Amino acid sequence: MSKKVRVRFAPSPTGGLHLGGVRTVLYNYLFAKKHGGDFIVRIEDTDQSRYVSGAEEYIFDCLRWCGLEPDESVQHGGAFGPYRQSERKPLYRKYAEQLIAAGHAYYAFDTTAELEEMREKFKSTENPSPQYDHHLRMKMRNSLTLSADETNSLLASNTPNVIRIKMPVGKTVSFQDMIRGEVSFDTSLVDDKVLLKADGMPTYHLAVVVDDYLMKITHAFRGEEWLPSAPVHLLLWQYLFGWEEMPQWAHFPLILGPHGKLSKRDGAKYGFPVFAMNWQDPKTGETTAGFREKGFLPAAFINLLALLGWNDGSEKEIFSKEELIASFDMARVHSGGAKFDYEKAKWFNHEWIKLTSASKLVPLVSHTFEMANLPITNVVLLEQVIAIVKDRCTVVTDFIEQGSFFFNRPTQIDTASILPKWNTEKSTFFDQLIHYYQQANPWTTGELEKICKDLALTHQLKTGELLLPLRIMLVGGKFGPGVFDIACLLGKEETLERLTQAKRLILQGA
Ligand code: GLU
Repeated sequence: MSKKVRVRFAPSPTGGLHLGGVRTVLYNYLFAKKHGGDFIVRIEDTDQSRYVSGAEEYIFDCLRWCGLEPDESVQHGGAFGPYRQSERKPLYRKYAEQLIAAGHAYYAFDTTAELEEMREKFKSTENPSPQYDHHLRMKMRNSLTLSADETNSLLASNTPNVIRIKMPVGKTVSFQDMIRGEVSFDTSLVDDKVLLKADGMPTYHLAVVVDDYLMKITHAFRGEEWLPSAPVHLLLWQYLFGWEEMPQWAHFPLILGPHGKLSKRDGAKYGFPVFAMNWQDPKTGETTAGFREKGFLPAAFINLLALLGWNDGSEKEIFSKEELIASFDMARVHSGGAKFDYEKAKWFNHEWIKLTSASKLVPLVSHTFEMANLPITNVVLLEQVIAIVKDRCTVVTDFIEQGSFFFNRPTQIDTASILPKWNTEKSTFFDQLIHYYQQANPWTTGELEKICKDLALTHQLKTGELLLPLRIMLVGGKFGPGVFDIACLLGKEETLERLTQAKRLILQGA
């Protein structure tokens, strides 16, 4: 029987969640759900110097907003915890010591000053930043250069030390990437990475291998920026657990912005979001815009992310989460970078707003109005408004411009757009329109349109010339859905009130 699929997203809580990070979550999630597996979130917080408070909660809030809930995590529990690496600290040392015993790792006692000195001393034009590697390790203060007695006495006196991997010289290590095929590395080119730090905390390299093993991860997917670390992880797998145990790996391509890798700065510069939700850096106070606050629907957000680097082989672009789960295939993830296009992202959102029923949009739109200090009490009216304006809204915040005039009488009327073509005929027409609308029964879109058109005919006026002033009188400007739909929803009393008031303003200006 094949093993149950178990995948993990392993973020370091160092800041907001970038588009690329959410796409990694999404592909992990889709793969797990497609294969009836588990999706695990493991917090990789071993680098305490990069820890940012609030980042962990933020990550979970983002996943909740996207509808990509993990099966196991710090917040969801599970049988393989703890799911925060700092809480697993005691279990890593034994693996590092096992590597030393087998000759694959060593203790290093070099101080920061000594490391600095090494970098200065061996710096050359060909090698501007010398690394702690097979060229230099025998010139440093470690258990390879010191005698066993010296090493033991340093350890016994608690001299600060780290454990480093001893990278073999001149070996090729390779693996089959699910997206890229065979990827190989020359071990001589990789430095002797620290595995266990002086404070006893593992580095990412040791922790990721040990935890993927202990958590029975079957597939490890991550961004391509982690590819250079792969040779270290491959050797650790071989030395500690055997290659058969190693998960299958896939490295996702970068998401590209207008100039190379999509960055936070691109977002600020070009005015588009790069994070899932607004993120405020607790140190600098700087806020990076999120898709949620820009008015994206979660369904649209995951749809557009899924298509940034994958397609199902057809022209189909709109996929629900269920359809994505059914169609997702790692073999169809591209190996080249995927270019992010904000206009296209908005197109996805527009399609999803059209596809979503008005009743489903009510809570979100209502919240958006509230955030804009325009609280809505008439939810029945809100749903009707959403139904008639949603096809014009690209982002949820557009509902404010397209719909707020239903709830609040316009404070300004763009009379400047009416006056140049205003005349006595039109003035009489609108007086009569107000009169006939007073008697309109039933108050329906069709009836209101009929009254207006018949009256235009009687006055020998072109309907086209009357609709713009009528619209401006009702909403304040040249926007909004069909003008008779607007009047119908506003109701008789409000429509007549607005027409009368606007008419008065026009006459003042005429
Ligand atoms: N902690 C790494 C990160 O921040 C995880 C890389 C991996 O998935 O192996 O992305």
